[in-house]
Amino acid sequence: MMVGKPTLRTCIKAERDMEEAKQLFKKLKIYSLLDLALIVPTSYNDTTLTPHLEIGKTATLEAKVLQSSVYNGKLRVTFALPAFGNRRLSSLFFRTTPYHYKLFEVGSHHYIQGRLEEYKGYLQMSQPRSVKEIGKVTPKYKTVLKESEIRSLIELYVTEKNLFNEGLDSKEVAALMHIHFPNAIEEVYADGRLKPELLEVLKFIEAYNHLKKLRGKRVDFPAIAALTGEIETFVSGLPFTLTTEQQQVIADIRKDLAREDRAAKRMVVGDVGSGKTMVILAAAVTALPHKSILMAPTSLLALQLYEEAVKHLPESMNVALVMQGHDEGDYCEADLIIGTHALLYKDDLPQAALVMVDEQHRFGTKQRASLEALVNRERSVGSVHRPNHAEQIDRKPHFIQFSATPIPRTQAMMESELVDVSLITTTPFEREVTTKVIGRPEFPQLLAHIQTEIAQNHQVLIVYPLVEESTEIPYQSLEESRGFWEERFEYVYVTHGKDKEKEQVLLDFREKGDILLATTVVEVGISLPRLTLIVIVGAERLGLATLHQLRGRVGRNGLESWCYLFTNTPGNERLQKFTQTTNGFEIAKLDLQFRDSGDIIDGTIQSGQRFKWLDMAEDEAVIKAAKVRLGSLEA
Ligand code: ADP
Ligand code: MG
Repeated sequence: MMVGKPTLRTCIKAERDMEEAKQLFKKLKIYSLLDLALIVPTSYNDTTLTPHLEIGKTATLEAKVLQSSVYNGKLRVTFALPAFGNRRLSSLFFRTTPYHYKLFEVGSHHYIQGRLEEYKGYLQMSQPRSVKEIGKVTPKYKTVLKESEIRSLIELYVTEKNLFNEGLDSKEVAALMHIHFPNAIEEVYADGRLKPELLEVLKFIEAYNHLKKLRGKRVDFPAIAALTGEIETFVSGLPFTLTTEQQQVIADIRKDLAREDRAAKRMVVGDVGSGKTMVILAAAVTALPHKSILMAPTSLLALQLYEEAVKHLPESMNVALVMQGHDEGDYCEADLIIGTHALLYKDDLPQAALVMVDEQHRFGTKQRASLEALVNRERSVGSVHRPNHAEQIDRKPHFIQFSATPIPRTQAMMESELVDVSLITTTPFEREVTTKVIGRPEFPQLLAHIQTEIAQNHQVLIVYPLVEESTEIPYQSLEESRGFWEERFEYVYVTHGKDKEKEQVLLDFREKGDILLATTVVEVGISLPRLTLIVIVGAERLGLATLHQLRGRVGRNGLESWCYLFTNTPGNERLQKFTQTTNGFEIAKLDLQFRDSGDIIDGTIQSGQRFKWLDMAEDEAVIKAAKVRLGSLEA
């Protein structure tokens, strides 16, 4: 038979193996070669002969059978250990078969493996295995597959060649080869644990693999138009100088918008009060003479944005507002159309070359899908004038979203594979908010402080964990406490997430209120300039991101403000750390560091990918290196 030429039979077999492998990958829920390579053995079986006898540890020993007897159905074998001066060792086999009797015949030689024990000076090893080949290190995998299945997958696919093809370097390839095919246990473990240098490599590969998959998912479309309107007049007309970060983000955006071959997809993340509105307006000016659409999650916010737009944009620019049951200006003629969801129901909404979404984090999951709809809307305007109709269908407006939920820098680095990300980490003014953790004993002082603030015409917000009484939560609910406040104060307003009137309640409170009682789900979108004190009841139950959002409600106008975290567990380290910083990005990092602690109910902590080796709180440098590698391979 000729060598090297595949026969029909080997072809069929290869194909069948391929199909089998596919099924196994499915079972393992893995999608890439590196996913497979990252399935690291949970332990190794090492049959290297044990050099020193250590009681309590697994040992592999050469042994000669001296005696063998059956007693009560159990087989007792006495061995001599040639490597240790023929010291004796006795073994008991509980589950015995004729095979065992024959195997351990007197005079026979073995390599036995098991846990070494000592009893009254006698060495013992209960039910040892007879090892055929010594000096071998065999990895043990814990997966849904059979040991033999996973091992053959690894042997078949985790090869040097395949790993180099994935873009790994020789150090990383060597590390994976050691992990899966060690020659000696010292290559993998030090003190019974994965060696630190291997751990570093695994972190890198995990980050790299994740980024690679994300990058594969990004789909880009050509833009409707390149937008290059000048903004100097607008910027110099503002009553303040833009911060360096605002300028940087505007520059990022202008670079995106100037491209026609690729519609922008960018997420701008900046704390509450970091000045995102000016960035939005600068983008709308850049879009001129083309139209822009700006969507906000609530009518209050839309209205506020509209007011700011009218105040700061050049007079020649036409701004319109679209809300349910209330429009301002003619949106068909406007350069910038600001609105709520109502925008989605206008079927004569003109085509915009730029679509923006403010406070993206406050749209629900379902609503987010409809944001996409705003971008993917069938374009009617202009298509007939284009000679190539097919090309027109594939064009999309530039899309920029703004969010005030700071994400950890590491997460931003990951997400930037799918959308470009800009971070604004500073605010134009330092806000003066004192944060304190308090408990029941401090309640009288809190009450006194509330009275002082109200006496100065300031306002107070008290946030409760629940609307109705519950046995599960050791705090009073909104309804239970309501009476207490209403007896003592005159202008108490109450609202919660399901309250249909909440926007009106908030407006009334802004004008006339002293105290607002609410739940965490109430997003106070409007600015409340007189709000100087917030109390968060059961604060330890909330993620730090949520606490940060809530704290962001006070001190908006530079008034000295306070945030009280009311809790039954005042020693809580997470809360204590929170009192020491007001930077949202630092808080996002803290949230990551504490993600496994406690009973957080609001789910903010679960967001983001979890990794086996990579620590999103600490491994920024690793992710950076992985991004650089990925970039260098594409270049
Ligand atoms: P965000 O939307 O990021 O929460 P805003 O855009 O509402 O923040 O800005 C908060 C406040 O800061 C507004 O009153 C705004 O006019 C003001 N502001 C924005 N940029 C600057 C700046 N560069 N210097 C001073 N004040 C600014
Ligand atoms: Mg804003």
